Amino acid sequence: MIFTVAIDGPAAAGKGTISRAVAARFGFAHLDTGLLYRAVGVLGGDPAQAARCLRPEDLTRADLRSLEAGQAASRVAAIPEVRAALVDFQRRFARRQGGAVLDGRDIGTVICPEAEAKLYVTASPQVRAHRRWCEVGGDEAVVLAEVQERDARDMGRADAPLRPAQDAVILDTSAMTIDEAVDRAVAVIAARRGEHRRG
Ligand code: C5P
Repeated sequence: MIFTVAIDGPAAAGKGTISRAVAARFGFAHLDTGLLYRAVGVLGGDPAQAARCLRPEDLTRADLRSLEAGQAASRVAAIPEVRAALVDFQRRFARRQGGAVLDGRDIGTVICPEAEAKLYVTASPQVRAHRRWCEVGGDEAVVLAEVQERDARDMGRADAPLRPAQDAVILDTSAMTIDEAVDRAVAVIAARRGEHRRG
């Protein structure tokens, strides 16, 4: 059974939590594609070369979750050669047997436009910054500026800019608890699976 769930959206919208919960609920494999770009960002050197030579252990580094790694990721993610080097791995993961959930920025638009279920998870910049600040601490205004800077770069880049796929279901989590957001995502995917099985 091949069934891809594409979950895209801006930083700190809740994609990661929703993706992990959905993968567990349906027994699908999960890939956080942001980790690929974060690893390329922190490895240093020539980003395109780093992307071509990425190893599984690079994705488990302890420093990938920091604000700096997020910024570095969004800078290297604007380089077309970096994106191109990471396409095949993501596509193979998406179309593996048993079902897959991928979260990122361009899964439903570029990596897997044929995904059986697509969600675009978003929330206001203030809500996203507050959630991120609860995780990382520090100055909330600095976290908000970081979120807005990353949004602008991810939405404004020429190659694979962040935007909802035409056929994505938009999930605005600004006023939702995480349980509500997960329930909505599960309902959307369950409906698509029913259609897929019947079709
Ligand atoms: O999702 P996360 O915050 O870990 O992503 C870090 C950065 O990696 C994003 O700001 C974005 O620039 C880039 N990214 C991307 N395409 C993806 C996943 C992440 O460009 N599919």
